[in-house]
Amino acid sequence: MAAPPLPCPGVAVIGGGPAGLMAAEAALAAGVAVDLFEVKASVGRKFLLAGRGGLNLTHGEPRPGFDRRYHRGGGRVAEWLDDFDATALRDWAHGLGIPTFVGSSGRVFPTDLKAAPLLRAWLARLKAQGLRLHVRHRWAGFEDDGTVRIDTPQGPRRLEAAAVVLALGGGSWPQLGSDGAWLPWLAGRGAPVQPLEASNCGFEHAWSPHLRERFAGAPLKPVVAHWSTIHGEARHRQGECVLSEYGLEGGLLYAIGADLREQQRRQGHALLHLDLLPATPLATVEAALARPREGRSLSEVLRRRLKLDGAKAALLRERLEPAALADPVRIAAAIKRLPLRLTATRPIAEAISTAGGLCLDGVDAGLGIRALPGWFACGEMLDWDAPTGGYLLTACFASGRHAGRAAARHAAGAATLP
Ligand SMILES: Cc1cc2nc3c(=O)[nH]c(=O)nc-3n(C[C@H](O)[C@H](O)[C@H](O)COP(=O)(O)OP(=O)(O)OC[C@H]3O[C@@H](n4cnc5c(N)ncnc54)[C@H](O)[C@@H]3O)c2cc1C
Repeated sequence: MAAPPLPCPGVAVIGGGPAGLMAAEAALAAGVAVDLFEVKASVGRKFLLAGRGGLNLTHGEPRPGFDRRYHRGGGRVAEWLDDFDATALRDWAHGLGIPTFVGSSGRVFPTDLKAAPLLRAWLARLKAQGLRLHVRHRWAGFEDDGTVRIDTPQGPRRLEAAAVVLALGGGSWPQLGSDGAWLPWLAGRGAPVQPLEASNCGFEHAWSPHLRERFAGAPLKPVVAHWSTIHGEARHRQGECVLSEYGLEGGLLYAIGADLREQQRRQGHALLHLDLLPATPLATVEAALARPREGRSLSEVLRRRLKLDGAKAALLRERLEPAALADPVRIAAAIKRLPLRLTATRPIAEAISTAGGLCLDGVDAGLGIRALPGWFACGEMLDWDAPTGGYLLTACFASGRHAGRAAARHAAGAATLP
């Protein structure tokens, strides 16, 4: 690289999502200069996308229950939350002029539900605090001599910084900037990594053309899912999901997805049983179906006596063999526990988030990467996992703050990295 190096006297943050921006804010607050490098033409693209469906910033659930939502990396996430929890996050948003409210489900949203006003106010404040933003700058890994390469619109440059914070995101929605390309680069430098996997995503089940054409997009609500955890414990949970073209999607699947993914890893598929009528006991269903039909079709009986119709009735028909459809006891059993064999998760690119990434035992208490002194990491690129509900963004913000502070301490006392 003949071009002059890119000098960063303080902290270089790479990645302008919520984690990177929070790291930048924390380092600036510690009095250290910050240069932020972002591959896209603007920062926060996935954050803005999250705002399209109503930005779920965090959750009102008190700790330590809150911490237990992180079914991977929970203990470590709790350390970051000790410093910046859901209440602190809400106060921080209020400080930007963005009021928040707790919805009926406990989820916390900005009052206008949007991400753009918050991001605008935040960026204005960061720039006023001295943030130097370099968009269309991509970290492209390490050169053979160990130098850090940044691809800029003017060509490749060598980064020289006192400390580096990586906030590169996971691997979902790669068109928004986070593509997981960094995984082998860190592995090559001796950092422990796990492959990225889709989390908070749909699961595949091959439906008949009839079900796909007539009912794709139809909600199944409420239903109760019965499944087994990775330890073989039976669990159930009430919620809602959507019958999609390829299988099932929605909040209920996101909440139990980690166990389903583990089942898939172990046995090649995940087994789920759905109770289509959670409010009606099995005995009541059996009694309703045992009475003579009086000339009515099965569909009419299900609709009139059990209020079971639409997508739920179609799903029942889809899964029951013709012989079972003539047997009231088997129909009742299937209504209360319909088996579904889920064959795969949807591709990472479609997922809301990814699990896997830089292993937490590869980073120290300040989120410094053990194999790369002076380098820190935060946000979704770290190997923790949580369901939707605001838990994802909360951990991104909290880890960003944690890493930014530690990087600032390092930069204040460190010579420039190669
Ligand atoms: C549809 C959707 C809805 C969501 N809704 C919610 C929600 O309501 N609540 C919630 O808690 N979570 C939600 N999430 C998840 C949440 O958006 C992510 O967990 C969060 O954005 C991750 O933050 P991050 O800063 O770690 O990574 P990202 O937001 O992915 O940011 C990483 C940044 O790094 C940049 N980058 C990547 N590689 C490089 C490189 N080599 N060089 C330079 N820059 C690079 C990227 O362009 C990107 O700007 C949603 C996600 C999706 C897809």
